Amino acid sequence: MDPAAGLVEVAVTLAVPGRYHYAVPRHLAGKVVVGARVLVRFGARKVTGVVVRANTPAPEGVHPIEISEVLDDEPALSHELVELCLWMADYYEAPPGEAMRAALPAGSGVGAKSVYGLTARGREVADGEGAALPAKQRVMLVRLADADMPVAGASDAVKRIIDALVTHGLAEVRDQRASSRVRLKRERVVRLVGELAAARAACGRAPKRLFVIEALAAPGAIAHGGALPVDILEQQVPGAKGAVRELLKAGLVEVFDRERPIEAVTTGADMPVSGPPQLTGEQAHAVAVITDALLGRTPAAAPAPAAAPIVAAAPPGEVAPAAPRRTFAPFLLHGVTGSGKTEVYLRVIAEALAVGRTALVLVPEISLTPQLAARFRGRFGDQVAILHSGLTEQARFGEWSRLRRGEARIAVGARSAVFAPLTDLGVIVVDEEHDGSYKQDEGVKYHGRDVALVRAQRAGAVCVLGSGTPSLESATHAEKGTYGKLVLTERPMARPMPSVEIIDLRTNLPDPEGFLSAPLRAALAETLAAGDQTILFLNRRGFATFVLCRSCGHAFRCPNCSVSLTYHRHNDRLSCHYCVHQERVPDACPSCHARDTIERKGLGTEKVAAAVGAAFPQARVARLDRDVASGSKIEAVLSKVARREVDVLVGTQMVTKGHDFPGVTLVGVLCADTGLNIPDFRASERTFQLLAQVAGRAGRGDRPGKVLIQTYRPEAPAVVAAAAHDYAQFYAAELAEREELGYPPFGRLIAVRIDGADEHEVAGVAQRLAEIAEGVARRPDVSTTGAEVEIRGPVPAPLARLRGRSRWQIWLRSADRHALRRVARSLTTVEVASSVRVSLDVDPLSSL
Ligand code: ADP
Ligand code: ZN
Repeated sequence: MDPAAGLVEVAVTLAVPGRYHYAVPRHLAGKVVVGARVLVRFGARKVTGVVVRANTPAPEGVHPIEISEVLDDEPALSHELVELCLWMADYYEAPPGEAMRAALPAGSGVGAKSVYGLTARGREVADGEGAALPAKQRVMLVRLADADMPVAGASDAVKRIIDALVTHGLAEVRDQRASSRVRLKRERVVRLVGELAAARAACGRAPKRLFVIEALAAPGAIAHGGALPVDILEQQVPGAKGAVRELLKAGLVEVFDRERPIEAVTTGADMPVSGPPQLTGEQAHAVAVITDALLGRTPAAAPAPAAAPIVAAAPPGEVAPAAPRRTFAPFLLHGVTGSGKTEVYLRVIAEALAVGRTALVLVPEISLTPQLAARFRGRFGDQVAILHSGLTEQARFGEWSRLRRGEARIAVGARSAVFAPLTDLGVIVVDEEHDGSYKQDEGVKYHGRDVALVRAQRAGAVCVLGSGTPSLESATHAEKGTYGKLVLTERPMARPMPSVEIIDLRTNLPDPEGFLSAPLRAALAETLAAGDQTILFLNRRGFATFVLCRSCGHAFRCPNCSVSLTYHRHNDRLSCHYCVHQERVPDACPSCHARDTIERKGLGTEKVAAAVGAAFPQARVARLDRDVASGSKIEAVLSKVARREVDVLVGTQMVTKGHDFPGVTLVGVLCADTGLNIPDFRASERTFQLLAQVAGRAGRGDRPGKVLIQTYRPEAPAVVAAAAHDYAQFYAAELAEREELGYPPFGRLIAVRIDGADEHEVAGVAQRLAEIAEGVARRPDVSTTGAEVEIRGPVPAPLARLRGRSRWQIWLRSADRHALRRVARSLTTVEVASSVRVSLDVDPLSSL
């Protein structure tokens, strides 16, 4: 067979390593380009893939088959993004196709539809011995033998049954070409050709034709390229369509199809914004340094090198700027809470736009930061595209398309916005870079901040990591000088940092209902009386977080996960926060059958909000946590707070994020200890960050703020440092501990996660993998630096069962990144039972 138009390499969107060669049939030549999505035969099925290399020679002995179809008119991913994904696949030890899938716009419907279907083995069983399966599974097997089933539509019950089939290797999830992809709507438009006067004259007195001509020549139409939708003309004057046809025949107009213009998304539209303020000295310095790097100028403050060529004297301001050097420059902008980091981002981005470049802004969770979106919109208008998981697919795809066509030049979004289709990037901002939500915990376990750094490096862009509480990793880079370090130590307008008081719960007993100690209750009353606002933070949602039988001690736990169930009053149910399990609270204890003995203990936000409402009936209390809502509802709560229609906001970590509410003068932390007891070397860091961040919500207006932190461990370093606004103290103490244990930033980690339905099987695989890892780690050639690779485990994960699967872990640690990788890679090739899943988590954040 003559490979008509050459060969390409395709990364298929399956969990398979490697890239595969395919031939380009002649009729698809020209459309099969790098970044295009294609449909290809892979084994017995058809899957989608992304072309990652064009015109590659096939290796010896490989006879590629032809690509079946090209799915895009224009490639879905740019060259740059394809390369970034290949880097991700390599660094995170992930299948390249999965990395591509992570980068494809969620709203484009481009990832082909996932369906459940039978494996070859499943078909055999369906035809023969299917009877040996439990009834429900047998029925499902027959059903799937009949037709594949879309994953998206399946109920949780159905999913559980199919999961069991998947576990037995009988069924699988696979791709099918989605039948209805989201597309931008197209419309037929008409435009004048030639002179207006000539057209007028040619129409004589035909009123409908004249109407069309005049409409096309009106200033409003001219502003939009002179093209108007035919349908709209017809709506205004019935019969206009016919007139357009006649004008077309006469050669006075042209008619063509175009994508209907997209309206920008309006996240944050309800948020008040103010104009650009006068920068503080520290802000101005930060902006100047970053701008110099962006424009490739040597910093003004640095003395000119002695050998620098002397530019012929020219009046200041008239020297034509040299073509900018595009060099990557990373910065850590360490600004205390409320110091005005956003203003720095805005100014730097304005500089980038001014020289024709684009900007990418990553935020931890866009639905929590409508204010930030509003500030960007307020400054840059429709040039801002918001990539937001709460949007409809159509809207998301619209924003994505506006970016791709250059109609929008600033992308603002959460983690996956790091793949926004921007060309000629000048600046990437990662706001609150320490935030854990940048880490993807399923599929390719990438860290949005780290991918942002790599993207900036490849694009020759400036990368600004901003935080009031930088991660130890980033702070260390800044200390070492690998990142430029910029600090904002003060709030603008001489606003002081809030005063913080630690309240020892051992001596100041909290009331059992709202968990308010006397000092916090008094402060709350005072704040309400002054007409100011309060934020109360508790990192647990629900009403009661622990439910048990008073008579026999039976505790209500999730049947699928090793956690207690939480009682939620709003739906009167016990529910698991890790899976979909829900149950009613029974009248009698399921264990001892006693009646009315079930107690609801443990405190969640729902209970606190209720208790505060009862204690202060005049107060307007609102709650912000995952139960309240997602997306637009979160935004609604936040704008109510911004408009001061809420007096007390009670919530989980959602209330700690970058909110800027000038009316908030009191912040109460109900129990600072909840996160400290988690078996995780980052527990202390995370607690410090949460406390410092939530404290930073107070006192952003004209009136000073006050923070009360309730705790059973007033001496815990994270609590003490957060109360003193002392990052340096925390950093030094924490760094010393990390060094002793070889944890990041001193060593690198890869977590090997092993899970499956059968506990013994999982434990067995974990044991075997750990032994193999030990063997590889001991090989003399594994490290070139002499640093050892330490194997910790295997151990059951702290969350030992999750969604019906047992979980074990092995942690690999080394100061030598390459050695660490070699050991981890050796595990990816080990054959294990298909019912056990082994995955690598490079630079893991969670120990659970
Ligand atoms: P951060 O992100 O550092 O916590 P923000 O960017 O939210 O802080 O800024 C805090 C507040 O200070 C905002 O209301 C912002 O409008 C205001 N602000 C920022 N810079 C200035 C300035 N130079 N002068 C006056 N107000 C400012
Ligand atoms: Zn569960």
